This record gives sequence, C-alpha cells and structure tokens, in this order.
Amino acid sequence: MDERRDELAANLAAVRERIRAACAAAGRGPDDVGLVVVTKFFPESDVRLLADLGVDAVGENRHQEAAAKAAACADLGLSWHFIGSIQSNKAAAVAAYSDVVESVDRVKLVAPLDRGAQERGRDVDCLVQVSLDPAGAQGRGGASPEEVRRVADAVAAAPGLRLRGVMAVAPLGEPALPAFERLAVVAAELRRDHAEATVVSAGMSGDLEEAIRCGATHVRVGSAVLGQRPPIK
Ligand SMILES: *Cc1c(COP(=O)(O)O)cnc(C)c1O
Repeated sequence: MDERRDELAANLAAVRERIRAACAAAGRGPDDVGLVVVTKFFPESDVRLLADLGVDAVGENRHQEAAAKAAACADLGLSWHFIGSIQSNKAAAVAAYSDVVESVDRVKLVAPLDRGAQERGRDVDCLVQVSLDPAGAQGRGGASPEEVRRVADAVAAAPGLRLRGVMAVAPLGEPALPAFERLAVVAAELRRDHAEATVVSAGMSGDLEEAIRCGATHVRVGSAVLGQRPPIK
C-alpha cells in the first residue's frame, strides 16, 4: 500500500507541475485550474489514498461503479463528478450521489436529474457536454454546439439544478487545440446568456496543456495519476 501511495503521490506531483507550467505559459494564475482525478476502474483504496494526498474532486463515468464508490467513500468529503454518458432511466439515480454532473448532453436528462436532486434535497451542479466532433460524425458524445443553448436553458430553469458551464472531450484523430478553441467560443457564447456558467471542463492526461491554453478551468486527469486502465471490455 505504501508503494501505491508513493506512486500516486509522484504522479500527482507531476500532473500538478504540468498544470502549473501550463498556467504560467498561458499567463494564468497557478490556482486558476482545478484538478478532477478520474478514478474509473480503480478501487476504493486508491480513492482513499488520493483524498489523503489532497485530492478533493474525483470523476467517474459508469453509474454502478460510481454509486458504489461514492457510497463507500462518503466519509472523505470528496466532490463526485459524473463524466460518463447517462441513460435517461438512470439520470435521477446519478443525481442522487453526484455533486457535479458534467455530461448533461440532452434536454431529456434534465427532468430526471432535477427529480433526483430534489429527492436528495441538495442542488446538483451541471455542465453541458459539448460535442467537438465534426458535424454528423459518430463521436464521443455531447450536444452539438447548436443544441447547447437549449440544454443549458433547461438546466437553468430546473429548480434542483445549477448550470455551471460546459464540458468536452477532444475528438479522436484531430489535434486538440483547434477543438478546444471551438469549445472556448461555445463557452463564451453561453456566458452571454448565463453569467453563472463559468466552468470549462476540458483536458485529460494527453491534452491538458492545450485545454489550459484555451481557457479550461478544470482538467479531468485519469491515467497520468493512476496508471493505465485495464482495456475496456
Ligand atoms: C476517462 C476520462 C477522462 C480521463 O482520461 P485520461 O486520458 O485517463 O486522463 C477524462 N474525461 C472523460 C470524460 C473520461 O471518460
């Protein structure tokens, strides 16, 4: 266990240094960018070590795994970010343990998320997931830039939800920088209507520097902290 702790501590230090350097290069303050450590596929014991190492936000992308881990780690006071695709019939359950739902990508999710939040008796922060894939491409999820406004309006109108901003994943097979530049435009347009939507969650292990250069306020880093995940079945 001590060995794993040392490994996570070293990886975290390296990621924090990358974030610091990217902020400096972009003329941004070192505390401008929040770190969400993506713990999907990794055990509760790793979440506990991360919390002990000062991590305060973790991301999960599969409902069952996320629900179980959030319950098992409820004593740690972490902020739980849901970052995976959401089935409508699971949305209320996702809102029951998530502090931030980053992957709201269609209007249909809003009513069940709101219901889950209200049943829990606590507002849930939401980000609209924006697709950065070329129009019509089978991509990595998210609302098209045209749909973002409708989804955002629906979230903002829901009493149990708080619209906080946008999230995106860089498309495969295309450089991340121009995609994150497009995201920055979408985020700025959204802020014109919704001043409270200040969060831009973008950047992962492989492209956090590009995201920070384009204004990301949060990065979601998995493998650079925890190591390679087992291949997806
Ligand atoms: C898995 C995942 C991440 C983290 O990816 P890494 O490349 O391991 O850093 C970030 N965001 C989303 C939406 C993910 O599914």
